[in-house]
Amino acid sequence: MNTNQNLESIPLTPLLHTWVEDILVNNQLIHAAIEEYGSPINIHSLRPFEENIKAYKDVFLEMGLKHKIYFARKANKCIAFPIAATECGEGADTASYRELKECIDAGINAEHLILTAAVKNKRLIELAVEQNVTVVLDNLDEWDLLKEVVSQKNKCVRINVRLGGFYFDDKILPTRFGFSLEDAFQFIKELHNNEPLINFTGLHFHLNGYSVEHRAAAVEQSLQLIDRLSLEQIKTESLDIGGGYLMNYLSEKSQWEYFNKELKRAVLGEREPITYQNDTLGMIKVNNKLYGEPTVYPYYNELYKSIFLKAILSSYSAKYNQLLFKLIEERNIEVRMEPGRSLLDQCGITAAKVAFRKKDTDGNWLFGLEMNRTQLRSSSADFLLDPIHIPKATEKDSREAVSGFLVGAYCLEQELILRRKITFLEFPEVGDLVVFPNTAGYMMHFFESEAHLFELAKNLIFKDQILHCCDDLKD
Ligand SMILES: *Cc1c(COP(=O)(O)O)cnc(C)c1O
Repeated sequence: MNTNQNLESIPLTPLLHTWVEDILVNNQLIHAAIEEYGSPINIHSLRPFEENIKAYKDVFLEMGLKHKIYFARKANKCIAFPIAATECGEGADTASYRELKECIDAGINAEHLILTAAVKNKRLIELAVEQNVTVVLDNLDEWDLLKEVVSQKNKCVRINVRLGGFYFDDKILPTRFGFSLEDAFQFIKELHNNEPLINFTGLHFHLNGYSVEHRAAAVEQSLQLIDRLSLEQIKTESLDIGGGYLMNYLSEKSQWEYFNKELKRAVLGEREPITYQNDTLGMIKVNNKLYGEPTVYPYYNELYKSIFLKAILSSYSAKYNQLLFKLIEERNIEVRMEPGRSLLDQCGITAAKVAFRKKDTDGNWLFGLEMNRTQLRSSSADFLLDPIHIPKATEKDSREAVSGFLVGAYCLEQELILRRKITFLEFPEVGDLVVFPNTAGYMMHFFESEAHLFELAKNLIFKDQILHCCDDLKD
């Protein structure tokens, strides 16, 4: 085949856990699983999940804080993760009826569950109340529904109140969630005095974005509210600081910086394109000037996971002239958190089979995979990690290197699996595998769809050198 292409794609080398390295060496397992279940498949490991939980736990232990980690299961639908979190003494944050019901059916005790769903209908609230699961309240209509359910069932319920509208630099951090600090104060006082069946136990927030400073401000203002409540003889047992802990996907900072620089140059026509049809990945180009930044996850980070948590909790509060974790400890408050993505760091890979090779009308090489774009998708404009190519064993002479694009099965011009140009050191052949590393958090499940009536990918767990099926939730 004619491969006289510009080979210069920009490498973005992913970090790989040892279990991933092992299974890539042992790749006949992946080939066999794709034969059995079809392409693509998602393969998970619980080992990094347990390591990630332990790393957060160690921060709390080091700071002498009571804590509880609720894995936000919306980031991956396999029930194995909430079960594993519970076995580590932690729990799961649930955001829908089925997320909660599955956890209960799996035998997870109410004390290990929390309900934060953005929309809670009566059926969901009834389930939570019957099962004694703490409900995180977001608005007054939810409150009305909860009161109705509680009085019908004549049953107590524990609630946490979600906060929003924190101040930062004298401006309110915009959000669609939660009660303002003042509204929360009035509301909690009111229910404390008038609602014997409702047991207020804690405050909760989950902030958008990845700013340590925003979170520190939110913790500080939550503590002020806790102190105000305390003056009214209202005790706050826990403060839940939500999810959104950064993680790091890439091994080299210089690659990440170089990619970002070259993307801008490419889009301005100063070099060959590095994305399909010179896609800007969310930047806006007007009159040959670029505005904004790529709308992509910050795949390279140095302040991530437990380091990020530590940075928040050891922030200094000017209002109290004290470190946040000391203030929390003095008040004997349990810190709760709800990480999704970061607990799933290194917990999954997605593998697909090469179906075809062809060129588009511009002469770009396209490599068709037996998968679709929704099976590797988050809110990030592209998944910026190099995929791993596993050539099938052949007796052929060595293959040439080539650069091109991975395309998928939905009948759309925009159906790129990755928008970035990828270099393959060996020319892909039909039946080869392409593996996408570190996909367990959001990438594999959050946006997957069944358009064209394609079936959803099978989910497997790699344990003791064997692939186990973990699809009890889908069949
Ligand atoms: C999405 C979400 C989380 C998890 O966020 P990650 O970024 O995956 O850590 C936690 N809590 C709430 C309320 C959420 O909506």
